[in-house]
Amino acid sequence: MAQFRNFRMVNYVVYGRGSFNQLDEILAPQRKGDAPMIFFVDEYFQDQQEFLSRIPLRGKDKIVIIDVTYEPKTSGVDKLRDDLKAEFGTVSGIIGIGGGSVMDTAKAVALMMTNPGSSVDYQGWDLVKVPGVYKAGIPTIAGTGAEVSRTCVLTGPTRKLGMNSDFTTFDQIVLDPELCKTVPANQRFYTAMDCFIHCVESLNGTYLNAFSQSYGEKAQVLCEEVFLDKDVWDDECDEKLVMASYAGGMSIAYSQVGVAHAVSYGLAYVLGTKHGIGNCIVFDKLEEYYPEGVEKFKRMVEKHKIEIPQGITKGLTEEQFESMISVSLGMKPLWENALGKDWESIMTREKLRALYERL
Ligand code: NAD
Ligand code: ZN
Repeated sequence: MAQFRNFRMVNYVVYGRGSFNQLDEILAPQRKGDAPMIFFVDEYFQDQQEFLSRIPLRGKDKIVIIDVTYEPKTSGVDKLRDDLKAEFGTVSGIIGIGGGSVMDTAKAVALMMTNPGSSVDYQGWDLVKVPGVYKAGIPTIAGTGAEVSRTCVLTGPTRKLGMNSDFTTFDQIVLDPELCKTVPANQRFYTAMDCFIHCVESLNGTYLNAFSQSYGEKAQVLCEEVFLDKDVWDDECDEKLVMASYAGGMSIAYSQVGVAHAVSYGLAYVLGTKHGIGNCIVFDKLEEYYPEGVEKFKRMVEKHKIEIPQGITKGLTEEQFESMISVSLGMKPLWENALGKDWESIMTREKLRALYERL
């Protein structure tokens, strides 16, 4: 393996309030004959006629409303792909408009339009062999960094794991802070804390380097400015948070996440706990690993009167605990980044069990 990771980035980025209005112009050169552009849109927007009318539909283009009740599954991705193939044969591109769930779905379906088989076959690292169709990501809630990452996280029959590859990165992203205006305060906080936690885990990890540090420090400061320094939420907060998400994603691209993510993956797999809130539930109890980060997090929670669920593992069976522990300890790079090469002697099954019992 090469000593230094040569990582693929998003090809085009447009930023600015109102930049969504430029979408028609941006997509025009990507249209292939009469093959349609398919717009995957978060279900929140399904009744927002004013917004839907701004989507630049041409010819056979189609809006597909994406149900985000559950995080994306391989079965759902395969079905969307099958439906598009049955209806259109081929498409010019897939545009994901929504949060991490919709953006990841768009990435996955774009890849599956050209790669044979099931998305299950590609959960892992560098298994995707050919480029997908054109794909663009347009976040409407900020924090995951899915707009810049080289993965799309999917829950499959045996594991929750992304399709990590150079082909997974978007060709284009449109960062328009205006689109995030309507996110409810609780959800905004949970997803934003995904970004804050990416920064803390990256900055306190053993994989840290100046590349990751530069982005991570800036993203963390932006999160603190909006959640600790400001007293009312305004347009500037959305602008900063959109950039925090981008920079936080860039920070982990060249390092790794840590304890909160490793533990939260176990919760997601066994209990279906969503990524943003799951990270908050775990991070709230990680003072031993990230004392400064957790102290700031608790201040943000208090200032914004956010409820962090407690006692969610109460009453789980022995089997469920064992399964969570196995899923979590399977995330080796995360643990190595967090605790160093000897992580296995530090994070024993017993120690992790005690942590899960506190959640
Ligand atoms: P989400 O996409 O699940 O959306 C959360 C909620 O916000 C939904 O109810 C949605 O309808 C609502 N919403 C979105 N935009 C809105 C708006 N403008 N106004 C009102 N409501 C709005 O949440 P998320 O936290 O952005 O994404 C979580 C997903 O991202 C998980 O599936 C996780 O695995 C994935 N993820 C991916 C990466 C990556 O690198 N690919 C990184 C982190 C997380
Ligand atoms: Zn995350």
